Amino acid sequence: MSEIVAGTLYVVATPIGNLGDLTPRARDVLGGVTAIGAEDTRNTSILLGQFGIGTPLIAVHDHNEGDIAAKLVARLQAGDSLALVSDAGTPLVSDPGYRLVRAVREAGLPVVPVPGACAAIAALSVAGIPSDRFCFEGFLPVKGGARRERLGELLSETRTMVFYESSHRIEESLADLVAVFGAEREATLGRELTKRFETLLGPTLGAIQQAVAGDANQRKGEFVLVVRGSVDREAAQLAEGKRLYAKLAAHLKPSQAAKLAAELSGAPRKALYVGGDSD
Ligand code: SAM
Repeated sequence: MSEIVAGTLYVVATPIGNLGDLTPRARDVLGGVTAIGAEDTRNTSILLGQFGIGTPLIAVHDHNEGDIAAKLVARLQAGDSLALVSDAGTPLVSDPGYRLVRAVREAGLPVVPVPGACAAIAALSVAGIPSDRFCFEGFLPVKGGARRERLGELLSETRTMVFYESSHRIEESLADLVAVFGAEREATLGRELTKRFETLLGPTLGAIQQAVAGDANQRKGEFVLVVRGSVDREAAQLAEGKRLYAKLAAHLKPSQAAKLAAELSGAPRKALYVGGDSD
C-alpha cells in the first residue's frame, strides 16, 4: 500500500485501453487521496468505478486550469492530498496539467509522478525504429498548409519522430507525410494499442498509406505514428538549407539569404544559390 503524504500532488498515469495497465500504485494513490483532478470527470468516474474507487473528482481541463490551479494549491496547503489524471495515459503528454504542476511546484509543494501507460512510448517500444534519440511531435496542425509547413521543418530531423493522430485526419496526414518525407521513409503506425483491435502497420510510410487506404477498419480508432529521422545527414542539411533559403530570400538579397541559410543549416552555400544578385 503506497503511503499518501498530505500536501502532495500525485500525477497519475491511467490506461490507454487495457484496464490491466493501471498499476497497483496508481490504484492505491487514486483511492487514497482527498480528491482527483480529472480532464473529464465523467470519463474518469467510469474508470474509477471499474476499480471500486469513490474518491471525489474535480474538473481540471485546458479551459479552467489557470483558475483552478490557485484553488488546488490552497487545498494542498490546507493539508489535502490530490491526484491529477487525464482521460487516458500520462497527464501533460498532449493533455492538460502543466499549469497546475507548475503552480504547485512554485508554491514549494511536492509533485510526485506515478508513471504508467503512455501511447507514444508504447508505440516507440514496438516500432523497431532506432529509439536511442527521439522527439515527440504530438498532433500535427489540423490545416493542410500548416501541417505541410511543419513537416517541411522536420525534413532535416535526424531523430525518430513520434506523432499522435486521430481517425478524422489519418489519411490526410499520411498523404502529407508521404509527399514531404517520401514513400520509402521507414515508419510504424500503431493503432488501438493495448485494445482488442491493436494493429501495427509498416515498414514504410508508403506501405502504411496503402494499407490504410485499402481497409476502412484501419482508419478507425486512435493512432500513434513513429517515423524514422533522416538517415542522410547531408540530405537533411540540404533540405533545411533550401527551406531556410526560400524564407530568407523573401527579405534579403539572394547571396545574403544563401550565406545565412548555409550557416544555419550546415548545407554548402553553392548548393542553395548560384550566381550574383541582380541589384
Ligand atoms: N496522455 C496520453 C498519452 O499518454 O498517450 C495522450 C493523450 S492525447 C489527447 C490522445 C492521443 O493519444 C490519441 O489521439 C492518439 O493519437 C494517442 N493514443 C491514445 N491512446 C491510444 C491507443 N490506445 N492507441 C494508439 N494511440 C493512442
